Amino acid sequence: MKDWTFLVFCFLLSWSIMPVNPQILGKLEHSQKVLETPPLEHPTPPAKLPSHNPTRSFWIDSSPDANPLAGHGSKDPLPSEADICIIGAGITGVGVAYHLIELLNNASLSVKRPLRIVILEARGFLSGATGRNGGHLTPAAFLEFSQRQALFNTAEAIKSYELEQHTASLLVKIIEENGWASDTDLVEGGHINLLFTEKEEKDAHKDFDMARQAQLNLDDVEWLSKEEVEEEYGAPYPGFREPGHNVWPLKLVTKLYQHAQAHAGQYASLSLHTRTPVTAVTHETTDNSSTYTVVTNRGSISCSRVVHATNAYSSYLLPFLAGPAGIIPTRGQVMTTRASVGTDQIKTPSWSGNEGFAYWFPRPITHDTEKPLIIIGGGREAVSPSYELYVDDDSQTHPLFLPSVFEGKYDPDSEPEMEWTGIMGYTKMGDPFVGPVAELLVANPDGDLYKKQYIAAGYTGHGMPRAFGCAEVIAQMIFAEISDKEWKEPDWLPQRYLTWNRRVE
Ligand SMILES: Cc1cc2nc3c(=O)[nH]c(=O)nc-3n(C[C@H](O)[C@H](O)[C@H](O)COP(=O)(O)OP(=O)(O)OC[C@H]3O[C@@H](n4cnc5c(N)ncnc54)[C@H](O)[C@@H]3O)c2cc1C
Repeated sequence: MKDWTFLVFCFLLSWSIMPVNPQILGKLEHSQKVLETPPLEHPTPPAKLPSHNPTRSFWIDSSPDANPLAGHGSKDPLPSEADICIIGAGITGVGVAYHLIELLNNASLSVKRPLRIVILEARGFLSGATGRNGGHLTPAAFLEFSQRQALFNTAEAIKSYELEQHTASLLVKIIEENGWASDTDLVEGGHINLLFTEKEEKDAHKDFDMARQAQLNLDDVEWLSKEEVEEEYGAPYPGFREPGHNVWPLKLVTKLYQHAQAHAGQYASLSLHTRTPVTAVTHETTDNSSTYTVVTNRGSISCSRVVHATNAYSSYLLPFLAGPAGIIPTRGQVMTTRASVGTDQIKTPSWSGNEGFAYWFPRPITHDTEKPLIIIGGGREAVSPSYELYVDDDSQTHPLFLPSVFEGKYDPDSEPEMEWTGIMGYTKMGDPFVGPVAELLVANPDGDLYKKQYIAAGYTGHGMPRAFGCAEVIAQMIFAEISDKEWKEPDWLPQRYLTWNRRVE
């Protein structure tokens, strides 16, 4: 029996004989428990640089033309100076550049010279989590509302969902306005959440009721009985449908970069240097200026501001973020497998279940006779009890298994077509850190060291509907600083994301 077939068997068996007791990452209550497990090493070492030989992901490697920016700028000389150095070319880093250019264009400031924005990426373009994820662009509609309301307050709980709504609908709007829907494989089909246990069902209804009482708009949520799910989709569980999309993340972020560069105009210049790992950021102050030296393996750049868009790897350059209070690199795994039945029997647009422990969606098919290719992620039970927390190496995979739901839709003897890992950035709270880096430190002996360094990172495996919005916040902060105005907080931003509410040291 092949490794993963054996695991499917074990998994099915475990469902039939054991009480269901999933330990969940990305869920407040359960992720707390898992994240409170002390790290193996004390003190926790900072993350390493991204590995040299990452596993091959469907999004990056399945077609030769998927990543036209893969090695962009890797041989071009680095500029000696820049106004803003963004470290990391994922959706956050590219998002900061995109939003800054939009802000500059909309404001039409009178400028002496264009603002020089440089993106530095350790490996190929989008080779981090954004190029290795499950491709879901689904804002959470209401799950966990009651926990958030109890932990924070009603306004904060509401903003958790508003930020996701804002981010996902902005991305969809940009895609549609620019006519990129087919280039980025945007699929609007909604997302089905399957509820596997009575407790999950009860909790989901409670969250829904509390969220509705708090005036969250849930008009587009549709509850589905077990019979309805079984008849329509072939899985014997109740659930609910929420609005959502799937997308080819690499193609989307490539478009965003190209758009930003084409629109930089008179206000900004944007360049990208891949295969240029940043190994240090140092700081110098002279009488009337304060600059950072961003050191790479190909030379150094003198930068007025630095943006850390390195997510799981943040603690490599910001070592005080290593450990449970900071950003914990956590390995996730995804695979593609061919369904054994046609699209008439794979109707589910995209789904997740086991409280986020498993998710999949079928890729759009190009020929009528084709069996759909399914992108499957999750399977975290396979790496229990460590859940691969503190693992920052995406050059290896772990044996994974097919989910037991939608039985009969796969040939258990077929091998996955591709299987890869990626590194997520977990935080204890489950929410990212957004804002000036200096604010993370209670005591900051060198007050200027982090003053004009910014961070947006730590999305805890749920970044597609959050990162681009957090990048917008960083761009607004930098824009406010440049134009000598006060930064005004967007209505949709949870307070607890802001670095000054999240001191780690
Ligand atoms: C397996 C997996 C499945 C996921 N599934 C989903 C999903 O279905 N839906 C969802 O919403 N989210 C999902 N996520 C999470 C989501 O992909 C991330 O939250 C999001 O992509 C983070 O974007 P980012 O730009 O902040 O980070 P990244 O995309 O990781 O980008 C950071 C970049 O920084 C670079 N870098 C790091 N250190 C340095 C350095 N020192 N110098 C230069 N460059 C550096 C890295 O190489 C990387 O390219 C998943 C993640 C993984 C790994």
